[in-house]
Amino acid sequence: MPPGPPAVRLVPLGGLGEVGMNCLVVETEKVRAVVDCGVLFPAGEAALGVEIITPDLSYLRTPGPPVEALLLTHAHEDHVGALPYLLREHPDATVYGTKFTLAVVKEKLAEHGLSPRMSEVPPRSTTALADVRFEPVQVTHSVPDAVGYAIETPAGVIVHTGDYKVDWSPTDGRLLDVRRFAELGEQGVLCLLSDSTNAEREGTSVSEREVGESLARIFSGPLARGRIVVAMFGSNIHRVQSVAKVAPQLGRKVCLLGRSMQQNARLALDLGYLRCPPDLFVDPEAADHFAPRELIVVCTGAQGEPRSALSRLALGEHPTIKLQKDDLVVLSSRSIPGNERDVGNLIDHLVRRGCRVLSTLSGGGELIHTSGHAFQGEQRMMIELVRPRSFVPVHGEFRMLAAHARTAEAAGVDPRGCVVAEDGDVVELRKDEIVAVVPRAATTGRIYLDSRGAFADVGELTLRDRQLLADSGMLVCLCVLDRKSGALLRDPELLGRGVAGLDDARLAQARGAAMEALEELAPAQRTDHASVEEALRRGVRSVFKRGFEKRPMVLPVVIEM
Ligand SMILES: [Zn+2]
Ligand SMILES: [Zn+2]
Repeated sequence: MPPGPPAVRLVPLGGLGEVGMNCLVVETEKVRAVVDCGVLFPAGEAALGVEIITPDLSYLRTPGPPVEALLLTHAHEDHVGALPYLLREHPDATVYGTKFTLAVVKEKLAEHGLSPRMSEVPPRSTTALADVRFEPVQVTHSVPDAVGYAIETPAGVIVHTGDYKVDWSPTDGRLLDVRRFAELGEQGVLCLLSDSTNAEREGTSVSEREVGESLARIFSGPLARGRIVVAMFGSNIHRVQSVAKVAPQLGRKVCLLGRSMQQNARLALDLGYLRCPPDLFVDPEAADHFAPRELIVVCTGAQGEPRSALSRLALGEHPTIKLQKDDLVVLSSRSIPGNERDVGNLIDHLVRRGCRVLSTLSGGGELIHTSGHAFQGEQRMMIELVRPRSFVPVHGEFRMLAAHARTAEAAGVDPRGCVVAEDGDVVELRKDEIVAVVPRAATTGRIYLDSRGAFADVGELTLRDRQLLADSGMLVCLCVLDRKSGALLRDPELLGRGVAGLDDARLAQARGAAMEALEELAPAQRTDHASVEEALRRGVRSVFKRGFEKRPMVLPVVIEM
């Protein structure tokens, strides 16, 4: 019997090859379900004005079953940030997720003028959708209410962990659902897709509770003489909870700064994910009514983001909170690679104000942060629990995916079933087996966006221009020609910006070269705009080819009179 088409296709559109823009399509004959749709943040100086990067979602427009469901694992931007772009094209899709995740996403989508159909799915609930059934499975992570999914398909059960760590003493008491993962393993899992972020780190991650306890010790120790400022990701409600717990014991109030911090904390309080006495919080506007020793500021900006709450504090731009000598600032997060310089600059500003700063960069040895992602030991445990026939590492750069695949092999998964796929590689599954991995079978890529609200796609060409401008500067060559004959009416004018070594002599040289190039044109070409522009560009650039390594961008402007 000839093999039919694959029963299920796994199509990664993002997240396999980078930490960010996670998006995976599970496709059967009848339906396309998309697990997460996140953004990637460009790191530090390489940003070139790009604020966010989303996955290229054009695959979802190709002929095939309808996009009916978006399954969200948790409310981090690298999982939900690109939802508006997906929903604009697939407005009929239903967004599924847990309570906290949907609450966060609902507000974000409303900012984009979107109000899609949403359906809350608690852990262990089952939802049928065309020829698949899916079930959220509770995991521990650095944001409340995170889940993975077990997806029952015509080919077998697929388990996607989402982002997870194994924390045996989580601050909210909600454990990873070990029992359910094990049960799924007993029943038989065709394929496990698992978080690879820390696949290169041996051992196990530290519990969030230990970080909370360590912060409490630091806050009651000799460093905490004035204000305490703790910076972290706005969604890290577990850590906010730890701070909120210790603050009253120290006689301090808590002031939340930064939009995402305030937004997440408000939702977490409303929905019961954050528990604290009602009089604990102080409005930022009223922060100056309290002495430094009576305040803990919890804010965003630990990555050195220029417009964040912590940056404003460091620059002395906050109206009511002026940091000073004896204030303690704790950067309670790990610097994302690429951001170290920004973080370093931020710390310099804080230290100049007389603040004492603790960060993972300064290496003081204090426990002030832990990862929300499983280390090797936890990853191996997940694989042993689920015992999948095949394994596809997700959420990581290539080396992390490869390391995770090695862990799976060591844990006993058949090496032929361990697949290191990248964005666009399609994994085809039939009854109980992976039949093929088709490299680059789906269109993927990155969309560079200038500004969140405007949906402005920067595009690869524009980015290349920006790179060139930043590297080498720009020369404008203005030329006035006779409309009929194409004769030069006056000498070309040159204007340079950001070009190294551009003096009068070099400008004159470039002007001469531009004129020469024009003279070399045949009479018919001189009235042709494109030919004239090309000649000017060629002429001016030739000057820089000789003397300089860097060749500026040349912008010819031709005016006909
Ligand atoms: Zn993530
Ligand atoms: Zn996450």
